[in-house]
Amino acid sequence: MGDLLNCPQCGKLFIKGIRKTCDACFKEEEQQYDKVYRFIRKSENRNATIVDVSEATTVSENKIIYFIHQGRIRVKGFPNFTYPCDGCQKPINDGRLCQVCKEKLKSELSIEDFIMKKQQEALPSYHTDDN
Ligand SMILES: [Zn+2]
Ligand SMILES: [Zn+2]
Repeated sequence: MGDLLNCPQCGKLFIKGIRKTCDACFKEEEQQYDKVYRFIRKSENRNATIVDVSEATTVSENKIIYFIHQGRIRVKGFPNFTYPCDGCQKPINDGRLCQVCKEKLKSELSIEDFIMKKQQEALPSYHTDDN
């Protein structure tokens, strides 16, 4: 018994369990996590940016952000390590949302709804602020 699922990472079929990916992808992800974790826990890497970490570990920036979102990697003490707020894309250093978005979120239904709404708002924009 056991349901079959397509692995969201590689597309292979695997038996549904506690993991959301197949064994191979799970192992790969653990190795990537390990590399990032080992890199950032060294004190000489305290000033690293996300680009530095990605280059040093060969783990993609998106994957590193994914680990942060999962709460497995904490970069709060890293002054240069920022990644975009899920709500407004402003650089942040902790959690998924900046302070402003966290305040706004209090009146919203859920973090997922909030982020989806924000992303939709951001789509049809023809003017930018940076000129
Ligand atoms: Zn897989
Ligand atoms: Zn924000």
